[in-house]
Amino acid sequence: MSDYDYDLFVIGAGSGGVRAARISAAHGAKVAVAEEYRVGGTCVIRGCVPKKLLVYGAHFAEDLKDARRFGWNVPDCDFDWPTLRDNVLADVDRLNGIYQETLDNNKVETFHERATVAGPHDVKLASGRTVTAKYILIATGAWPVVPEFEGAEHSITSNEVFHLDEAPTRIVIGGGGYIANEFAGIFHEFGAHVTIVNRSDTILRGYDAQIRDRLLQISMSKGINFRFNAEFEKIEKNDDGTLCIRIKNGDPIACDVVLFATGRQPNTKGLGLENAGIELDKQGAISVDEYSKSSCDSIYAVGDVTNRVQLTPVAIREGHAFADTVFGGNPRTVDYGCIPSAVFSHPPIGAVGMTEAEARSRLGTVKIYTSDFRAMKNVLANRNERALYKMVVDAATNRVVGLHMIGPDAPEILQAAAVAVKAGLTKQDFDDTVALHPSMAEELVLLK
Ligand code: FAD
Repeated sequence: MSDYDYDLFVIGAGSGGVRAARISAAHGAKVAVAEEYRVGGTCVIRGCVPKKLLVYGAHFAEDLKDARRFGWNVPDCDFDWPTLRDNVLADVDRLNGIYQETLDNNKVETFHERATVAGPHDVKLASGRTVTAKYILIATGAWPVVPEFEGAEHSITSNEVFHLDEAPTRIVIGGGGYIANEFAGIFHEFGAHVTIVNRSDTILRGYDAQIRDRLLQISMSKGINFRFNAEFEKIEKNDDGTLCIRIKNGDPIACDVVLFATGRQPNTKGLGLENAGIELDKQGAISVDEYSKSSCDSIYAVGDVTNRVQLTPVAIREGHAFADTVFGGNPRTVDYGCIPSAVFSHPPIGAVGMTEAEARSRLGTVKIYTSDFRAMKNVLANRNERALYKMVVDAATNRVVGLHMIGPDAPEILQAAAVAVKAGLTKQDFDDTVALHPSMAEELVLLK
């Protein structure tokens, strides 16, 4: 008989927590998980999934326009936000059910309440009950950060945006990262007047400069407004419910909704981590070793709460590696090299490996190959929007160390090409591959 109620208690049923719980249970562990909001976590409930569905919905604005050039007689049509919103939320409900079923089928006990750490082996549930576990896994994710200033309470974050009663006609988006640019694209396509207000003078820090510039140029030519080096001073709410945004060193902006996408803070506040001597880093993330173990031997942490790479597939891998290490007799770590990422903007971006600037500072001599082209479909549609593919090659070895793309379907193409970059293939390997014609992806094997 075990000395504990459970072999594993997972706090947070998101991407990392659910994977860790399921695999640990499959390895024979007695597992429980606590979730204070909805099983599935950020990605499924209020992140990647509903966002991508909105991106699909938004893209019809361009498709319907372009269809006329392809001979379709498209009558004037309008967009109905409540229909899309409710259909998206229904799909979220469906996925929430599937995640719960996965836990149930694997005999993972679910507590639908908040849990905190009461000691190295003790978990306190919101209902007042305390349970014990040989191991505790913290997978509580991250939470959107809203800057502090007068009237900030009138703003929303990505947590609320999927539930808006009406699509805004004027929206101000704070931030310049991927979430800010994705929602700028979404609401612009729905017909809103969109303004991005960014503290610095660059968008999408971490992405290749040429690709970022291309998105900025396309976004501006579509009519998305940008205020750079701008800081929020005050939000005033008018009697009719509209908002007035006061910006330091800039004209005020009138709008219906202010959305903050200014980063996500690891969710460690009020978790009782001090009860087990768990150390945090300067950003408030749980410090862990390569096996995701915290400074307390019986407590591990995976996913956004550790602030390693805030992406769903990474949280899932960390959760899986944890389960194999602790319950599967197969200690293993996660390989963080060459993680592909995307920005589901209009058009989207896909990237893997080093940017040109990174490669130049780390490798010395690099070769850059680019293809700057108008997709065939855009040519016929009279859509003056150019794609840009960029390959970064280590001049010493001819190895492809980075691929960066903006254009239609870039994330779909990039995922496949990322296999080649991860495998360490060379420019010659790309050149030796016969083009698949006519496609956009063929540009990757025709780069000169
Ligand atoms: P989460 O999935 O956030 O799960 C944490 C869970 O813990 C939550 O359900 C929370 O309610 C629960 N919880 C917290 N504290 C407690 C407690 N004390 N007790 C009980 N439960 C608790 N990633 C991508 O890879 N691709 C994308 O396109 C993408 N788009 C995104 C778009 C948006 C708008 C956002 C916000 C995020 C997006 N992400 C994307 C990031 C992705 O959602 C996260 O990286 C991922 O969900 C992290 O998984 P996790 O398991 O660490 O945490």
